[in-house]
Amino acid sequence: MPKTAKIIDGKKIAEEIYEEVRREVAELKAQGVEPGLAVVLVGDDPASHVYVRNKERACGETGITSFVHRLPASTSEKEVLRLIDELNADPRVHAMLVQSPMPDPINENRVVNAILPEKDADGLHPVNMGKLLMGEPGLISCTPHGVQELLVRSGFDPAGKHVVIVGRSNLVGKPLAALLVQKAPHANATVTICHSRTKKLAAITQEADILVAAMGQPEFIKARMVKEGAVVIDVGTTRVADSTRKSGYRLAGDVDFERVRLKARAITPVPGGVGPMTVAMLLKNTVQAARATLQRHCG
Ligand code: NAP
Repeated sequence: MPKTAKIIDGKKIAEEIYEEVRREVAELKAQGVEPGLAVVLVGDDPASHVYVRNKERACGETGITSFVHRLPASTSEKEVLRLIDELNADPRVHAMLVQSPMPDPINENRVVNAILPEKDADGLHPVNMGKLLMGEPGLISCTPHGVQELLVRSGFDPAGKHVVIVGRSNLVGKPLAALLVQKAPHANATVTICHSRTKKLAAITQEADILVAAMGQPEFIKARMVKEGAVVIDVGTTRVADSTRKSGYRLAGDVDFERVRLKARAITPVPGGVGPMTVAMLLKNTVQAARATLQRHCG
């Protein structure tokens, strides 16, 4: 029987975080603050509808009030910006996000920039991204924060490790690198970022103590690209047609899971790895934003 990697159970770790959030929400409610998260969804993208339903359910499970605005694909950018202004001014809404991708011709940057940084649930506003880079407290983008928590809570602290991230998006790769390179607890990693123009990618990924794949390229990372005993975090989630499923598709990660698990020390599955952590960190950000309003009132 070949030895196989420990499976890092994102669902279980996310549930631990839900429990913490439930306690924090109860504390805030006892102090007169009902944490509220607004989610704006524009258009008919089926995956986005699933993500928004999951976020709504997660709020319900932890006592956070959710305000979901489902708008038709024909909604103009101006209308979205008007709604954001309303939510910025609404004291019941401590945090908000607009689900990505937004239909054309809505400019996602303009929409994210319109959200007050202190209500930026996804941590994607330039002010929060800047704070992350500077190592200042702020709302941290959810997927990178989820990856860090997943590592730490499963016993693989990135401190002193060589972390190789494949993918340099503003959503995942870049903020994750900024987070893990900080001179701070649970960071202090040596970080290499790779992308589609990287030469000799496999030679670099083979150097990783912790390899993070955030590419959106199903099963791209093969066993030969992974160092024996590495920890492998698969952020990728691509819908791949699968006629054996009732839904007609399955979710595929960026890692060739079945082969890489024979070589890695630990690995995240897709689904059930990073995905649940992203939602858990969204709840954490909502609580953090709600607590900040209390601190502003008190002091
Ligand atoms: P993205 O904006 O499309 O970025 C993909 C990155 O991968 C880019 O930097 C791209 O390089 C790089 N890349 C693509 N093909 C490559 C190749 N052959 N070799 C090396 N690098 C390559 O995607 P994203 O928003 O970061 O998302 C990445 C994946 O994570 C997607 O599957 C997405 O669905 C998933 N995701 C999951 C969660 C979750 O909660 N589980 C959250 C966010 C995203 P260039 O910059 O050179 O183009």
